[in-house]
Amino acid sequence: MNIHDAHCDVLCKMWLDPSLSFENGDGLHTNLNQMRKAGAKLQLFAIYVPESVPDGAKFDCALEMVDIFHEKVIKPYDDVVPVYSKEDAENIPDGKIGAMLTLEGCDAIGKEAGRLKTLLRLGVRSVGLTWNYGNATADGILESRGAGLSDFGRSIVDLHNQHRIWTDVSHLSVRAFWDVIDQGRYVIASHSNAKAICTHPRNLDNQQLTALIEKDSFIGVTFVPKFLRNDRNASVSDIIHHIEHICSLGGTSNIGLGSDFDGIKEVPAGLECYEGYSRLIEELNRYYSKEQVDGFLGKNLIARMP
Ligand SMILES: [Zn+2]
Repeated sequence: MNIHDAHCDVLCKMWLDPSLSFENGDGLHTNLNQMRKAGAKLQLFAIYVPESVPDGAKFDCALEMVDIFHEKVIKPYDDVVPVYSKEDAENIPDGKIGAMLTLEGCDAIGKEAGRLKTLLRLGVRSVGLTWNYGNATADGILESRGAGLSDFGRSIVDLHNQHRIWTDVSHLSVRAFWDVIDQGRYVIASHSNAKAICTHPRNLDNQQLTALIEKDSFIGVTFVPKFLRNDRNASVSDIIHHIEHICSLGGTSNIGLGSDFDGIKEVPAGLECYEGYSRLIEELNRYYSKEQVDGFLGKNLIARMP
């Protein structure tokens, strides 16, 4: 089915529990057997360093996740191929699944741009400046100060612009979001929903969504129940509501999916793990044309890749 998913936290889970198998790990929402069955084409794997890791150990932790990506996700499987560029993403052979690295939060680099350059050399193609709290680049959405980009953060966005790397606005404070809209050349919201449908602070309001659409950015609708519905009782149809809302703002060709599988404890009914994608696709096919569904499942992501 050519599913492209812009965000999962498999690497973090496998770092926390080295006994997990990527192929058939029961503890993973996104495992290879399910991806094969449902028809995965490209998965973005976030390097997310848990908040509990001390500052001095964060960069090492990020490097360990890069190692897990290569040793445990790619190397053992003939049908998993690394994706380092738009060209790679456009040319994933039939029967193979592409895997691409992203960074969720620049806490791991401290104030060292060289560390980020190292991660880019290792294959990271999309960088979220923050997770929910503040760091040297900016504040995240739950940091009460609500600051925008620091001077260091601006230099990092410049670096992304020069190296054709996505700057991910999911998790950013509102001020930092608008700073990135001003400065970023390649902007993505990898896993965020519409605030007009569900008021969680992680979601984006209509002005923000419209700004992303005007910038021709990708918007990954995410499966996090508390971002889907105020009462958290989410099911597949709630994902359709968010997609429909972003379509109504003119974003039909910007929309894709960023599940946040393995980064969430609660999951929507019917989408308990990657296999549930089949149910979501059935539902999408009821409301949208084949061309639109192909866009949501991946074409929109590939088209917007720098
Ligand atoms: Zn996240």
